[in-house]
Amino acid sequence: MGTKNFSDLTSFKIGGKIRKYIEISDEDEITGIIGKIKKDNLPIFIIGGGTDILVSDKDFEGVVIKYTGDKIKVRGEMLTAEAGAVWDDVVKLSVENNLQGIECLSGIPGTAGAAPIQNIGAYGQELKDTLTKIKVYDIQNEKFVTYTNKDCKFDYRESIFKSKSHWQKYIICSVTLKLVKNGKALINYDSLKNNLKGEPTLQNVRDSVIFTRRQRIEDYDNFGNAGSFFKNPIVDQAKKLSLEKLFSDIKIYPFKNKYKIAAGWLVEKTGWKGKEFGNAGVSPKHALILINRTGRATAEDVFKLSEEIIKDVNNKFGIILEREVQLINF
Ligand code: NAP
Repeated sequence: MGTKNFSDLTSFKIGGKIRKYIEISDEDEITGIIGKIKKDNLPIFIIGGGTDILVSDKDFEGVVIKYTGDKIKVRGEMLTAEAGAVWDDVVKLSVENNLQGIECLSGIPGTAGAAPIQNIGAYGQELKDTLTKIKVYDIQNEKFVTYTNKDCKFDYRESIFKSKSHWQKYIICSVTLKLVKNGKALINYDSLKNNLKGEPTLQNVRDSVIFTRRQRIEDYDNFGNAGSFFKNPIVDQAKKLSLEKLFSDIKIYPFKNKYKIAAGWLVEKTGWKGKEFGNAGVSPKHALILINRTGRATAEDVFKLSEEIIKDVNNKFGIILEREVQLINF
């Protein structure tokens, strides 16, 4: 327990002072701690790796809880990770055990507990494809509950835990995945294929993903950031055809019975890639990543920059970008 700032707990290195900060190291501790916190009647915010949020500069008059238990267990094809485990350690262990299913999710920052909230995905793999259940603590009813894959209502970078009814109401304690023993590696994306030859092993895929990400994605030790700031917009066929007429090099892919446009391509075409905006900016490596350029950017700087980008993309393409990053305490 103690005082902290959100800037210490987030990969953007931005965010105001926190009234109370509490770490929970295992399930046995939860009931007692939550009972006590609820008596104070303060708002609660549960934080994972803090890698997918932009927190305002205001003080947070509430309690921030971090679940730090980080054990990972493999039994046959089943893998269970406590919420505080570093996500990439989960992937590493799965690959070492020759378990296929999450190798393309190598190098995604954050914790195992945060991974299902936005249904992390990369290179054609999504967490929802392997997740079987999640154990959560229901804060309101003070009890442990198991969510099956179906209960989680997963979608593209979405889950029930992002919805109003569930947001900040459950502490994710562990996630269980069903992987495929000696399964064949999945390689759909050109950006991956370019580095792989023949029949790659899971370790080859993992190495290639990490290599590709390092070249493309900003390390938050250099510039604070929260990965992809915007979601890839989904459009119907009429919009696709009209855009293709105007922009022959547009990056667009089939998505269910619609089409997904690479948001990074849209931002790049508005000229924002590598641009400075006060103490914030857009990464010169990847147009989808907004950065705390000088280390002194405020949440307001980043938010205003995102508004400018949304406006410019809308003016040029008639598409309103949605933020993938969650805005907290705004
Ligand atoms: P990229 O390979 O340059 O591709 C750019 C965009 O085009 C991606 O956003 C991807 O959509 C889409 N795309 C490319 N090839 C595709 C195909 N064969 N089928 C369908 N869609 C295709 O991507 P990047 O920006 O370097 O990122 C690499 C991967 O890491 C992407 O999958 C990206 O989503 C993922 N990533 C995920 C997170 C996260 O979960 N928070 C953060 C950073 C990067 P998708 O985004 O739908 O894959």
